[in-house]
Amino acid sequence: MDRVWKRLLAIVAVAGIVGVAGSGMAADTSRWSYAGANGPAKWAKLEKDFAACALGKTQSPIDIPDAEARKGDLPPLLFDYRPSPLRIVDNGHTIQVNYAPGSTISVAGKRYELVEFHFHKPSEEKISGKAHDMEAHLVHKGSDGKFAVVAVLLDAGKENALIKALWANLPQTKDKENAVDAVKVNALDLLPRDKGYYTFAGSLTTPPCSEAVTWFVLKTPMPISADEIARFSRSYPMNARPVQELNGRDIQATR
Ligand SMILES: [Zn+2]
Repeated sequence: MDRVWKRLLAIVAVAGIVGVAGSGMAADTSRWSYAGANGPAKWAKLEKDFAACALGKTQSPIDIPDAEARKGDLPPLLFDYRPSPLRIVDNGHTIQVNYAPGSTISVAGKRYELVEFHFHKPSEEKISGKAHDMEAHLVHKGSDGKFAVVAVLLDAGKENALIKALWANLPQTKDKENAVDAVKVNALDLLPRDKGYYTFAGSLTTPPCSEAVTWFVLKTPMPISADEIARFSRSYPMNARPVQELNGRDIQATR
């Protein structure tokens, strides 16, 4: 009897080891989360590649101290966006729209291509201590591999036609892109008329928290309806990383 139990335990132990190794080899980076055992305070420990989440000195998001920002005549953010056939995915952390190539921003002679945009609730960036209802991140990549993220704060108000079109086409399955060729979206529809901004060095706000990101946070929020916020909240009631230390960062702002 004793021997049978030992064998059984050995089999269970081996199965356990194989199970752990199996998930490790799959490099499952989806297990980080916004709360609990795999929450933001633990991100750096989940994967070797996530070290910057704890060790980085210019992490995002931040609480932008408006009164201390260096205000000046900054170069304008120039948007050259084209409509894109809708490609929408629920990646387990947010709702993301993958954008067709050919849409760019230029600032101070540097050009970045729009790769995707996605949403956070509540806003990740704060301004003078104030969070907003939601935030859209428009993620751009430069030819040098560095990122420029344009952040648009979203506040409850009138309906947002672009977001309405997105939510009407939410994928039923996680991690499976829903391609809807009949629906064209234009990220321009997410932008306020006034393109005044704050800019500073930061990071991705999700693991691996890489610090090759220049942030442009638009000062003027855009409206989104309470119903649209509620719909996002059904999938993601809270997907915002806490604000990070400024560490003496230079924050510039348009006048
Ligand atoms: Zn984001």
